[in-house]
Amino acid sequence: QYAAEESSLPAKIDMKLGCEIDDSKNATLANKISIFCGNITILEVDAIVNAANSSLLGGGGVDGAIHKAAGPNLKAECKTLGGCPTGEAKITGGYNLPAKHVIHTVGPQGEKEGYLKNCYQNSLRIMLENNLRSIAFPCISTGIYGYPNEPAAHVAAYTVRKFLEANSDKVDRIIFCLFLDIDKDIYKGLLQSYFPLE
Ligand code: ADP
Repeated sequence: QYAAEESSLPAKIDMKLGCEIDDSKNATLANKISIFCGNITILEVDAIVNAANSSLLGGGGVDGAIHKAAGPNLKAECKTLGGCPTGEAKITGGYNLPAKHVIHTVGPQGEKEGYLKNCYQNSLRIMLENNLRSIAFPCISTGIYGYPNEPAAHVAAYTVRKFLEANSDKVDRIIFCLFLDIDKDIYKGLLQSYFPLE
């Protein structure tokens, strides 16, 4: 379970996103969500998500860490994919990672909500298409790509919430992998709102 510090819920979670939450689903959804604080490359899940760049040939940040841990065969497979447009996602093997697969998605540079939403949605769609049941997300676009942390966290939590409302039976676990203290603080409060523990 994620760490929860606040028990009272705001009446409306995020006006900007026009958030409509189906409260009848709360109990089922909260127990599928986790926070993990640390390096995404150690997670033994069906898929970890890579915040890649459009070349898919590796870069800095989480992308660099994933390629380093997976080994050169990951880059060899990525070379066959022909890149990836912003907001879309492509799957590869996990190679030397404990994760079975890597889902590479390309986040927007700057605060472009629609593209960031697409990253989460397309990664989750690819998870289902490949019959995978567990996935871990880094905080896409909030590093080198400069999306502000708090709005990005709302997009992540809202998009995952809507996906789980429709698909919770096909999913065992969705992990938000938090690497920085600022994201730990943001997500702790936010997930209590989007995934209330009853
Ligand atoms: P982007 O280019 O999409 O902004 P970054 O890799 O620069 O991608 O940053 C995305 C997030 O991933 C940031 O919160 C960053 O701190 C985090 N991050 C960096 N390395 C790792 C890692 N090994 N595991 C998990 N998250 C990481």
